[in-house]
Amino acid sequence: MSTFASELTVEQTEIVRTIRDFVERDVLPNVSRYDHADEFPQPLVQTMKVLGLFGTTIPEEYGGLGLDLTTYALIVKELSRGWISLSGVINTHFMASWMIKTYGTEEQKQSLLPPMAQGEVRCAFSMTEPHAGSDVQSIRTRAVRDGDEFVVNGQKMWVTNGLRAGIVMLLAVTDPAAQPRHSGMTTFIVEKDPEATEQPGLTIPPPLKKLGYKGVESTELVFDGFRVPASRILGGEDQLGQGFKQFMAGIELGRVNVAARGLGIAQSALENAVRYARERQAFGKPIANHQLIQAKVANMATKIRAAELLMLDAARRKDTGERADLEAGMAKLFATEVAEEAALEAMRIHGGYGYSQEYPIERLYRDAPVLILGEGSNEIQQLLIARRIFERAA
Ligand SMILES: Cc1cc2nc3c(=O)[nH]c(=O)nc-3n(C[C@H](O)[C@H](O)[C@H](O)COP(=O)(O)OP(=O)(O)OC[C@H]3O[C@@H](n4cnc5c(N)ncnc54)[C@H](O)[C@@H]3O)c2cc1C
Repeated sequence: MSTFASELTVEQTEIVRTIRDFVERDVLPNVSRYDHADEFPQPLVQTMKVLGLFGTTIPEEYGGLGLDLTTYALIVKELSRGWISLSGVINTHFMASWMIKTYGTEEQKQSLLPPMAQGEVRCAFSMTEPHAGSDVQSIRTRAVRDGDEFVVNGQKMWVTNGLRAGIVMLLAVTDPAAQPRHSGMTTFIVEKDPEATEQPGLTIPPPLKKLGYKGVESTELVFDGFRVPASRILGGEDQLGQGFKQFMAGIELGRVNVAARGLGIAQSALENAVRYARERQAFGKPIANHQLIQAKVANMATKIRAAELLMLDAARRKDTGERADLEAGMAKLFATEVAEEAALEAMRIHGGYGYSQEYPIERLYRDAPVLILGEGSNEIQQLLIARRIFERAA
């Protein structure tokens, strides 16, 4: 029911065990309370800092653990098995740190990565706008040069960690006449005051109200004359116009991570369903002895295993430097659909109690859909996968 030990290195096995212990000890007894109160889990995040999770993939020379994407995905799966929102707290941080590590200037790496690795500064990742989600090239937020600075105006939407982040990776249009449009977009490393809803040139309205994925805030960011030094263009002034490509590379990595989050939800749904099916009696025997329940469990477990292999395949390809957009898209598509299906199947197995707040199933059922919508919706994944298949065939 879990990753086969033989597939992991000794170090990965040890790390997975540490995260599982944290989840069993600190997360599972408290998750229902945090979720229903929609409360930011400060003590849990503090433990995640102590465990070094904010620096998981940041190189050791900048104070991180220097682990690979495969190990990161295994960590995310374990966290999400406890609560998807904990992986939400580190997900945008992970993508931002990867972008700085990959594209940043040496000065940007040296000044930003060490506090990020400790979790002293947390990061958000912002491209979506009210009118533009999938169609990223339609964003309107403008950054206009004024001497050594750029002045930012525009509205961003659905920024996870938007309030508590001290750094926002911001995609903005710097050349609206550029053709193709994406070549006129630039990534800015926006440094802001965490927790402040009003600061010069930036307003953060109250967090958006959501179905699930509670506890971690998703906010709008309203820029009105916000000033960013030109030195905070990701990778320096040479990288003006490279923002779209940088964001898409970050998102591609994020897809492996979303697959891992889906797996965590699906794994939790399966474990809860099996536990309940062994306890609940109907027609004189545990429902686990009814064959239609067994079929559900068998299908859930098989699909989870397949999703896990897709995730590991995509992560390992990325770690060896291979192109893996096709594999990451497949892993994201499949694992998140499996999560959604497993949450519903677990609810069916729980009968009426699955609908009750007494059991974790209703939370899994509310949390799963965000994975289908985000990091490129599953419809967009299908388009990308098909495009690559046809490219190969041509
Ligand atoms: C809780 C939450 C957290 C988020 N966090 C972040 C974040 O931190 N940073 C960030 O930048 N964004 C974030 N997002 C935004 C998320 O990435 C977008 O919601 C997503 O990209 C979809 O965009 P949209 O909502 O505008 O839907 P749209 O793009 O308007 O899509 C609507 C529907 O049309 C479909 N569709 C669109 N284009 C096509 C097409 N060509 N072919 C077929 N179907 C299509 C979509 O699949 C979807 O079903 C978050 C969203 C949520 C809900």
